[in-house]
Amino acid sequence: MLALQGDFAEHLAVLERLGVEGRAVRLPRDLEELDALIMPGGESTTIGKLAVAYNLVEPIRAMIQAGKPVWGTCAGLIFLARDAGRDQPLLGGLDIVVDRNAFGRQVDSFEIDLTSPVLGPEPFRAVFIRAPVIRSVGPGVEVLATLPDGRIVAACQGNLLATAFHPELTDDARWHRFFLKMVTRP
Ligand code: GLN
Repeated sequence: MLALQGDFAEHLAVLERLGVEGRAVRLPRDLEELDALIMPGGESTTIGKLAVAYNLVEPIRAMIQAGKPVWGTCAGLIFLARDAGRDQPLLGGLDIVVDRNAFGRQVDSFEIDLTSPVLGPEPFRAVFIRAPVIRSVGPGVEVLATLPDGRIVAACQGNLLATAFHPELTDDARWHRFFLKMVTRP
C-alpha cells in the first residue's frame, strides 16, 4: 500500500477485514517481497513528487514490469496513467489519458450506483471526490465501468487496475476482492 499521502489507511482497513496483510510503503525497501501494490486517492501531484523524492518511481515501474498487480484509485489512477494532461511525475504504466478534476467545482464530490461486468449484476456505490475521468484508452486496455454519459471511470490492462472512484470508502469490498484475485491469478 503506497502510503506517501492520501487515504491509504482506509484501504489497509479493507484488506485487514478481508484477512489480507497490507504493508505501508514509504521507502523502496518497503516494496521488497510485496505481491501487489495499491496506490490511494489523495493529491496526485503530491504523491508523484514524494515518490520521486523517495526514489520509488523506478522500483514501482520494475514491479509493474515484473507483472505484479498494481491498482490506483483516484489520484493513484492519475499516477498510473500515461498522460494526465499536465506536467507532473507519472509512473505511466497504464495506457490511458486522464482528465484531472473532471467534474469541476459544482459537483466536486458525488456518489452514484454503477455496475461493472467484473463485479456481477449487483450495482456498486461509486464515490467520486474531485475525481478524474479516463478520456481515452489504448488498444490493450479493457473498460470496466462507465458513467451513464459514457465517460470511463474504471479500466484494467494486464496486471494494472484503475478506478476513478473510492471503493475503500464504502462497505462493499468487491473491488478489493477483484484486485486480490489478480494477485492470486497464476
Ligand atoms: N483531484 C485529485 C488529483 O488530481 C484526486 C482526488 C482524489 O484522489 N480523491 O490528484
